[in-house]
Amino acid sequence: KRPHTRLPSWLKTPIPANENYKRIKADLRGLGLHTVCEEARCPNISDCWGGSNKSAATATIMLMGDTCTRGCRFCSVKTSSAPAALDPHEPENTAEALKRWGLGYVVLTSVDRDDLGDGGARHFAETIMRIKQKAPQILVEALTGDFAGDLEMVGLVARSGLDVYAHNVETTEELTPMSLAVLKAAKEAKPELITKTSIMLGLGETEAQLFATLRELRAVGVDVVTFGQYMRPTKRHMKVEEYVTPATFELWRQRALDEGFLYCASGPLVRSSYKAGEAFIENVLK
Ligand code: SF4
Ligand code: SF4
Repeated sequence: KRPHTRLPSWLKTPIPANENYKRIKADLRGLGLHTVCEEARCPNISDCWGGSNKSAATATIMLMGDTCTRGCRFCSVKTSSAPAALDPHEPENTAEALKRWGLGYVVLTSVDRDDLGDGGARHFAETIMRIKQKAPQILVEALTGDFAGDLEMVGLVARSGLDVYAHNVETTEELTPMSLAVLKAAKEAKPELITKTSIMLGLGETEAQLFATLRELRAVGVDVVTFGQYMRPTKRHMKVEEYVTPATFELWRQRALDEGFLYCASGPLVRSSYKAGEAFIENVLK
């Protein structure tokens, strides 16, 4: 028997077709935004962009270029120790484009930029401030790296006017004191902020490890957790140990709620930004 060489049926996805998706995609043309949704060919694009109501539509935008200074074992982003310089107009242009796009919820993320003194925190914060000035109705989530452990920079982003601060612990094995410190610092900088993290399953984690991780996250005040299936980008990356079934994802969603998380998205194709707008509106603004 050769396990895990064929994709289970629940990981095969249809091509998006609904009207809202088509309209948002057309609106995007000419705005100069780089969405992770399109560039990573995310299978959730019709769910995130195409919900029944545009004010809940979610997209993820990549700031600070496409080249990362790190090379994590589960990630396929390009890497270099000296990526291109930041575009000083990006905060303003992003805000202007988002205002014209008129979407409900944006996740801003970036590669890690250890080559910059502040890890790009000021650039992130400035982008958020400009979005909130130009289009205050847009809910903003920042999904950041760890700024090399500079918690003042975490605080700077946390206080920039955003609604949700996300930092992914990625795998139970990868849960480091640094990741917990980032999530804790964001909450301390602005206690009313929603903090959020995401964990990939299927890397050989045990139930006990996962429970321990959830409890550590709650102990630093993390409000929201998401679970998704780890998918191996190429043969050079860590291999998938298990394709976790939809029923097990549902079990972990329930367990997360039992542990006190405010809400939880959990499923084989879930990514940390999966339908984030809809979830925020239903659970936080209700
Ligand atoms: Fe975009 Fe994230 Fe939704 Fe995928 S899960 S379509 S990357 S917002
Ligand atoms: Fe990928 Fe983020 Fe790791 Fe960079 S820091 S390699 S973008 S997971």
